[in-house]
Amino acid sequence: QEERLRKVEKLAAAGQLAASLAHEINNPLAAVTNALYILQNYSELPEETNSLVNTAASEIARVSRIVKQSLSYYRVDRSPKEVDLAQILEESLRIFEEKFRKSDLQVRARIRPHITILGFGDEIRQAIDNLLLNAVEATPKGGRLAVSLRWSRDRKDESQPGIARLTIADTGLGISREQRSRLFEPFFTTKAEKGNGLGLWVVRGIVTKHEGSIRIWSSTRESCRGTAVSILWPLQQKGAAAVAQPVNVVAHGK
Ligand code: ADP
Ligand code: MG
Repeated sequence: QEERLRKVEKLAAAGQLAASLAHEINNPLAAVTNALYILQNYSELPEETNSLVNTAASEIARVSRIVKQSLSYYRVDRSPKEVDLAQILEESLRIFEEKFRKSDLQVRARIRPHITILGFGDEIRQAIDNLLLNAVEATPKGGRLAVSLRWSRDRKDESQPGIARLTIADTGLGISREQRSRLFEPFFTTKAEKGNGLGLWVVRGIVTKHEGSIRIWSSTRESCRGTAVSILWPLQQKGAAAVAQPVNVVAHGK
């Protein structure tokens, strides 16, 4: 118990540190990005210099992505709005269409319309994007994704507004037992240079902020490989619409 508490504190501190670092780094980063952009479009550079500039630009872009990911959901200056989960999910799937096609993935989506929760649409969008990206990256060409958004009743109390459940399942390589316990740690990745290990950490931060929870099922068995990740939001009654109540506390990790 105590050890868990220490871990919570440690990760919360890490989150806050990341957020303030990201904030401080953003401006100089933008300046460097702009300078490199100008250099890239400056035609009189010798060949070798050009390739160095390109390398610098792509590495700076990588740093930018990391900074953006860790900063984006740590904003306290806004109030939550009613957002339509189905709409956000559909938007996200549309943007991913090109990626799905490139990886030759068969994607089936079952989306129940008009499930609204009170929250931050762009953050939820980012959480969904991160999960979709992980599914795509884990699944070899020709694989399948099943995406769903459902609503279900609270089995113990039928008078409750129920639970929204968003699931992204893939037929990818699965998650090993050793990896499982570390998935939500910041910077934990099995993708070496291609990953930054912030995806699930950010997802958890966003979901926790919206009072939801995450479940992961996975198998690395040859016969039935794959991973399913669900986000669950308990809904709350509010007028005619069932909405989930977010909290304003930001907690990172578990
Ligand atoms: P990154 O994608 O940059 O590696 P994430 O935090 O998004 O960072 O994911 C952490 C790790 O969790 C991944 O490196 C991968 O090992 C594992 N993982 C996440 N989603 C999946 C998935 N759908 N299938 C298999 N492994 C996954
Ligand atoms: Mg990821």
